[in-house]
Amino acid sequence: MEISTTTSSAAVSDERLAEILANPGFGTHFTDHMFTVEWTPDAGWHDARIEPYGPLTLDPATAVLHYAQETFEGMKAYRHPDGSIWSFRPEENAARMVRSSHRLALPVLDVPDFVQAVDALVQVDQRWVPDTTAEGSGEKSLYLRPFMFASEAFLGVRPAQHVTFMVIASPAGSYFKGGVKPVSLWLTEEYTRAGRGGMGAAKTGGNYASSLVAQQEASGHGCDQVVFLDAQEGKYVEELGGMNMYFVYADGRMVTPETGTILEGITRASIIELAGKMGHQVEERKFSIDEWREGVASGDIIEIFACGTAAVVTPVGELKWDGGSVGTPEGGEGLWQKIRQQLVDVQFGRAEDTFGWMHRI
Ligand code: PMP
Repeated sequence: MEISTTTSSAAVSDERLAEILANPGFGTHFTDHMFTVEWTPDAGWHDARIEPYGPLTLDPATAVLHYAQETFEGMKAYRHPDGSIWSFRPEENAARMVRSSHRLALPVLDVPDFVQAVDALVQVDQRWVPDTTAEGSGEKSLYLRPFMFASEAFLGVRPAQHVTFMVIASPAGSYFKGGVKPVSLWLTEEYTRAGRGGMGAAKTGGNYASSLVAQQEASGHGCDQVVFLDAQEGKYVEELGGMNMYFVYADGRMVTPETGTILEGITRASIIELAGKMGHQVEERKFSIDEWREGVASGDIIEIFACGTAAVVTPVGELKWDGGSVGTPEGGEGLWQKIRQQLVDVQFGRAEDTFGWMHRI
């Protein structure tokens, strides 16, 4: 793909950038540039460009605003101690976007084009990738948000004939700033996230829109995150609003809910490989809420953790629902922490990348 570049004349000053990178937060500051490429049925993908970051002008009839035909990805660029910049398994994000786009009747952006687009933006905005060798800068990274949407101005309900793919980037702070605190969970029995044949495995805005009211319910009950159950029987654990789940047994077994109606997390998939190498057997299967309850009560389940690009791995504490709760599992020796450390060390170039997961930008 040929990419034209117009550099920003209003780029953030070095002083202001240093201030932002000292305390980036999440998702509020954006880099100086953005990547865009357009698609039409006749021309295919065309007009790939990097331009100064800025607002889009959209016709009020733009299809995505009405029918939510869109997909997105979430990934990060990490600075290694030698100053080089790397991403983690970007082809997996690209492949997942292909799968999501099939489900949303959007055109396919080939894996190499996706990776090239992300790399090109990070190269142009490389000064935005935080230095992680400085004291206290821990796990800062540049969060990358590729997304594709129906940009045709037309109110008919059909796959759009004009589609736009973009990449924007935003520096992200360390997830565990005030030390590790297990996430508390709310089990929603009223709302489900995805049903058979639905969009659960696609990374598309609608799934997140539908999760918000359940997340509000969780916050209202003093919980950090919401747990969704399967839509058919209301019995099996699926995932959290933005993370996959793992259950660790005293005998070393690990269970993670099977794919189909959940988002196939790249962290989840990487943990399957890593845990296998560490001698743990990982079962991908249906996992009922009763198994959770009974496993913690009997002491068979010794750790529960959640995983995703943002937190990498985070321990799970209490689970609450209307009229009951299950406490934090006990007896674990911090397997979650070992797994987390290994992933983070590879991502930040502090350990050998034995799986070949890292991609140099
Ligand atoms: N489930 C959902 C619903 C998510 O939004 C995410 C974050 N992308 C995940 C799981 C974890 O996926 P990944 O490990 O690829 O970040």
